[in-house]
Amino acid sequence: MSEVLIVSLPGDGIGPEVTHAMQHVLEAVALKYGHELSVEEYSVGYAAFEATGTPLPDETLEACVRGPAVFLGAVGDPRADGLTGDMRPEAALLKLRSELGCFANLRPAKVDEPLVAMSALKDEIASGCDMVIVRELTGGLYYGTPRGNEGGRAVNTLVYDAAEVERVARVAFELAGRRRGHVTSVDKANVLEVSQLWRSVVSGLAKEYPDVRLEHMLVDRAAMELVTNPARFDVLLTENLFGDILSDEASAMCGSLGLLSSASVGGKVGLYEPVHGSAPDIAGRGIANPIGAIRSAALMLSYSFGLQSEAEAVERAVALVLAQGLRTADLAGPGCRAASSEEFANAVAEAIT
Ligand code: NAD
Repeated sequence: MSEVLIVSLPGDGIGPEVTHAMQHVLEAVALKYGHELSVEEYSVGYAAFEATGTPLPDETLEACVRGPAVFLGAVGDPRADGLTGDMRPEAALLKLRSELGCFANLRPAKVDEPLVAMSALKDEIASGCDMVIVRELTGGLYYGTPRGNEGGRAVNTLVYDAAEVERVARVAFELAGRRRGHVTSVDKANVLEVSQLWRSVVSGLAKEYPDVRLEHMLVDRAAMELVTNPARFDVLLTENLFGDILSDEASAMCGSLGLLSSASVGGKVGLYEPVHGSAPDIAGRGIANPIGAIRSAALMLSYSFGLQSEAEAVERAVALVLAQGLRTADLAGPGCRAASSEEFANAVAEAIT
């Protein structure tokens, strides 16, 4: 028996709806596998701004830094449109990510077989696609100095050192070892010196993982293969900017934004969040798809608590409920049974074995 302690930040819009759905599934996991689940809830985003005058109150940040795992629903509210800088709900998220020091962002992109027809790609191309993008999150062009925009000339700097490359590459190799044993490292080594360093560090590290097949691929070809032959990828490793773009491209093939999960790891505390935002257009109606949140919780069980069987049980339960034809409104189609967020989460909780 272990203690599963989560700092939960439901946030704004559909954030609380998907967070509570996710929590219901975790309660079922804890009951089934004999763990003690404790959830400490704190405010973030516009909800926190309204209550305390800041989107990331000190007590929220302190709780997150204590960890060991943080779950975030979503932030963002149309009422925040007049706010600027650090007062914006989204600023809380950026600060949180950097304070937690999570340098590796994991974004699974999997086409669920019952949802193949919902993919933006042709059925035969989307079918069987199951990859995880590992994106370096705290370095590269978004952080390098000098940077600036003055007198009609702007500059950003792409910089990585070998240690930064090695630590994120290690996350990718370890993950591939637990999956299909294939890492595709994406770079632009035909043009960029930084990519040449990236390539040589990744190749060097590969010697420690003889059971993992390493392939290097230029980013332009990777962008093309993601829409022509995505099933060829298992773990796709890349730097910050390329990963930002490729992970959104990959997610388009899955069928709904509401399906996508993420984990940001590498620091002492992991941060887990569905990829979608606060969806003000559907907030408060109980129709949000909770799968992205539920799958983020599966990543949390695996990465922050080492509970691999429990994480797999969550994934199995989601797959089973989808196969039974239960769907939230974003995935509605002929022959499916409509479910609210809560009904969907209840079905997943019951399917935990
Ligand atoms: P969004 O992801 O909130 O919504 C985009 C579209 O997808 C909407 O039509 C929405 O209804 C739909 N959608 C999203 N999640 C869904 C779900 N779980 N189930 C069913 N449908 C879903 O993006 P947006 O509209 O561009 O942004 C809204 C707010 O969210 C903004 O304030 C933005 O800054 C914020 N945002 C926050 C995060 C985050 O918290 N990580 C991420 C992206 C956007």
